[in-house]
Amino acid sequence: MSRETASADKPLTILHVDMDAFYAAVEVRDHPELRGKPVIVGGPSRSRGVVSSATYEARKFGVRSAMPSAQAARLCPQGVFMPVRMERYLEVSREVMRIFRSFTPLVEPLSLDEAFLDVAGAERLFGDGPAIGRKIKERIRAELGLVASVGVSYVKYLAKLASDLEKPDGFVIIRPEDVERRLPPLPISRLWGVGPKTESRLQALGLRTIGDVRAAGEERLVRELGDFGAHISRLARGEDDRHVEPSWDAKSIGAERTFERDLSALASMERELLEIAEDVGSRLRAEAVAARTVQIKVRFHDFRTITRSRTLERPTDITREIFDVARDLLQEKAGVKGARVRLLGIQGQNLAPPGTGQGTLFGEKSRAKERRLDKVIDALRHKMGHDAVVRARTREESR
Ligand SMILES: [Mg+2]
Repeated sequence: MSRETASADKPLTILHVDMDAFYAAVEVRDHPELRGKPVIVGGPSRSRGVVSSATYEARKFGVRSAMPSAQAARLCPQGVFMPVRMERYLEVSREVMRIFRSFTPLVEPLSLDEAFLDVAGAERLFGDGPAIGRKIKERIRAELGLVASVGVSYVKYLAKLASDLEKPDGFVIIRPEDVERRLPPLPISRLWGVGPKTESRLQALGLRTIGDVRAAGEERLVRELGDFGAHISRLARGEDDRHVEPSWDAKSIGAERTFERDLSALASMERELLEIAEDVGSRLRAEAVAARTVQIKVRFHDFRTITRSRTLERPTDITREIFDVARDLLQEKAGVKGARVRLLGIQGQNLAPPGTGQGTLFGEKSRAKERRLDKVIDALRHKMGHDAVVRARTREESR
């Protein structure tokens, strides 16, 4: 088989675009005096906050996202800490997604700052996959002043791998004939879906590189790991039959808080929960989506972490409804009585367009009232900043 025929059924039409150090890059763009500095976006370094994003200047010191801010401050004392401005990143994210969608409707966002694109139908208009990938990079730079890394290949896994290989400002094409050369030397953590846990499990089997996984053979991996073994041996061969599934949004929208001091009073947990619900609600509304499932997350003082969720008859984007469900879950399912709580979070999952589904927690009248209140709060926060508005915790208290 000639190379031409080999490639003909494997056209390079799957792109994975991933913004570099997204939140931190938005901060640097919005505050030009920060250019070239080690900028760390996240909770303040003297608190129990964590790093959400860091510029490559900060990463040189070993700063990584999800690391406690205090540790980041020790590693990088000259780091400039900036608070998380989620609303702003959402705005910029919509601009990024708009650029993607100007090339193809087949856009599958994985988070605010990365997406798969299937450009098979766009080639006549814009050129082949690599040409479209370059155009997207250029437009993100020219229109948004930001940098994206792009991976181009013929299946999702390889496109995702490619976008990450030469970050930041990467542009990598993986062609069918590149697989044999590029994949085997890579560590198993480069297999999509292999996190730290699976990694140590694979290492215990003597597997360190993708080459090792290939050499082990599918039969042995299935014996050891079941379906997952079959899955990773396919990935290791560069095979992935998943399609780009266009969706208008990420799979979930959530927010969480780590507290300066552990909370033990239910009233203070509920107060925090309301503010978190406010964040989640306003983000859902900003994205014009509603959550069918509300999940809470509770981390106790000893780092034991639980999640509890409830699926609603009718998806909601109303802060009060999100809060009510989250509070019920906290009171009834989380076992927080007498416990010390370090973190609380709420996630809206199972996203759907607002206004779908049957039944309601509230009557339509009070729903409309809550909606008006949410609108006012969104507008105030937009104008005056995130912390300008604090909603009264309960109707009783608001009197
Ligand atoms: Mg990114």
